[in-house]
Amino acid sequence: MTATPSRPTPGSADLTAVAEEFGTPVYVYDGDVLAANYRALRERLHPALGIFYSLKANPNVSICGLLHSLGANAEVSSLTELRTALAAGGEPQDVLFLGPGKSRDELVACLNSGVRAIIVESLPELALVDELARATGRPARVVLRVNPSFSVKGSGLTMGGKPRQFGIDEQQLLDAPDLCAGLTTARVVGVQVYMGTRILDEGTIVENTTRIFELAERLADRLGFPLELVDVGGGLGVAYFERERDLDVEVLTAALNPVVEAFVQRHPATDLVMELGRYLVALCGTYVARVRYVKESMGERFAVADGGTNHHMAAVGIGSFVKRNFPMRKVGPASGAEDVPWNVTGPLCTPNDTIGKAVPLPADLAAGDLVAVDRSGAYGATASPVHFLSHGYPAEVLTLGDESFLVRHADTPDDLLSRQVFHDLGARVAPTEAVAAP
Ligand SMILES: *Cc1c(COP(=O)(O)O)cnc(C)c1O
Repeated sequence: MTATPSRPTPGSADLTAVAEEFGTPVYVYDGDVLAANYRALRERLHPALGIFYSLKANPNVSICGLLHSLGANAEVSSLTELRTALAAGGEPQDVLFLGPGKSRDELVACLNSGVRAIIVESLPELALVDELARATGRPARVVLRVNPSFSVKGSGLTMGGKPRQFGIDEQQLLDAPDLCAGLTTARVVGVQVYMGTRILDEGTIVENTTRIFELAERLADRLGFPLELVDVGGGLGVAYFERERDLDVEVLTAALNPVVEAFVQRHPATDLVMELGRYLVALCGTYVARVRYVKESMGERFAVADGGTNHHMAAVGIGSFVKRNFPMRKVGPASGAEDVPWNVTGPLCTPNDTIGKAVPLPADLAAGDLVAVDRSGAYGATASPVHFLSHGYPAEVLTLGDESFLVRHADTPDDLLSRQVFHDLGARVAPTEAVAAP
């Protein structure tokens, strides 16, 4: 049994042609699928809920540019992500900056560019933002990231109700009613909560959102700040593995929109934000690698490909002790050979470099064939050890209709070596007498 997609899946891009033109391994993003997925959600979601794209999921500037053109704003967590969002056409006003370890430089860049808000994750960070705002004379809109006292089951990674480096504990905030009065320049204007990732249950998202709205009202009341912005996180998942099911956007929005509407009735001027990474980009992406060798070992078949976990760590099987496979297939016309179990591995010198374990693929799979890993547009190369064994980042290609655009060059050995500094220190090492063999 495979994942049961209820949303469009890649298929239109000619992966053989892309691999011929741009080489392998390569990530191929289908811009039409990206747009269709975005619109399917946007058309049904309550219009007051703004969609902010979490660049962490896929920071390619052309992907960000397409999402920006479709109407998405951006949520960023590093200076380069901020620069990427702006390079992709976003206005600073359309960007939220979040992250537990922001540098002074990042905070100053937020203030100087005028992002919509800085989402602060600790009390010392709040004090620093206030200090920097005073020093630069820039206004600072601050949203408090809250680590809620509650948790809601149903996500791949649950955030609330646990000690975390993210956000400020709800209780600490409730215990600090004078927090805002202590600020000189920065202004607290809202609340953000992120409850977890890979959520595949519509009811969990609705419950999270309901409880985040209640929490935001509770905190704004207690601390006396205006509720100008509430960011309800997101964490919407996609089905990767057996027995997983995609979210049904109709079911989700039918239940979520009334919750949003009730909040809008109470707070018509509040800016509402949903942050989405994986949900927006996962389905549009396919990782394509070429088989270099096929071999057998102790009765199992191995297809050794030119790319592996160095580019696609997630394919190892997220958050699971048992290896679960992403949806995989051989690219190109079917030969008619029956499917048999194949281990698909990469070029790294570690047994962990297995992107598919006992994947059903044609028995006549051979060197030169292309293997595709679907649903790979999120947390692919960006979340993988691309420098392991010095292979570098793979190429990325964006397709639209029947056109293909190279949107990232693969790293070359020269690129990788150019970042290193060779100090030839051999002569400075004290010479040692060669030890004669006995
Ligand atoms: C990672 C992250 C996201 C994006 O998560 P997805 O599950 O990819 O949608 C959004 N918000 C925060 C705070 C995150 O850390």
